[in-house]
Formats: sequence, structure tokens, C-alpha cells
Amino acid sequence: MEFIKGVKYIECPGCKKFKLNPTKTMNALSRKNDKIYVCSDCGTLEGFDSLKVIIEEIEDKKKRKKARDLFKKQREELKKFLGIN
Ligand SMILES: [Zn+2]
Repeated sequence: MEFIKGVKYIECPGCKKFKLNPTKTMNALSRKNDKIYVCSDCGTLEGFDSLKVIIEEIEDKKKRKKARDLFKKQREELKKFLGIN
């Protein structure tokens, strides 16, 4: 994510990094808890995680397993890309 000059970022409840804009609506509303805001990067990861539900609906057992493996791999890469541990 891009940081805006002059903004004093606060700790994100998701990744615990100082990436939360003090103006709540400049962040992402958490999909896990609609009362909290998380940084844009955590919001992106939560969005990606919503794919899990769709994967679990794949009826073919082999395809479902393959999709789970791909999801896991891609999730790790996304986390690295976003700088989330
Ligand atoms: Zn975060």
C-alpha cells in the first residue's frame, strides 16, 4: 500500500503494523468483523480469503484438493507481496 505523506499511521488490528490511517474510512472494513477497520493490505488478504468458501463448494474431490493447494500457495505469495507475516 502507498503511504500518504504527513499522515501518522496507527497500529492495524490485523497485521499489527503501523499501517492504519487515523481516518477510519481510508482503510478497509474487516470482512471478519464489520465493526473494525484494517489496513488496505489486510483488507486485500481478507478479500482473497473469501475464495475459501467457493473452493469448499467444488464437488470433485481431486479438483477441490488441487484448488486448496493452489489457494494455500497463492495466499503465501500474496502475504509476502503485501508484507504481512
Ligand atoms: Zn493490516
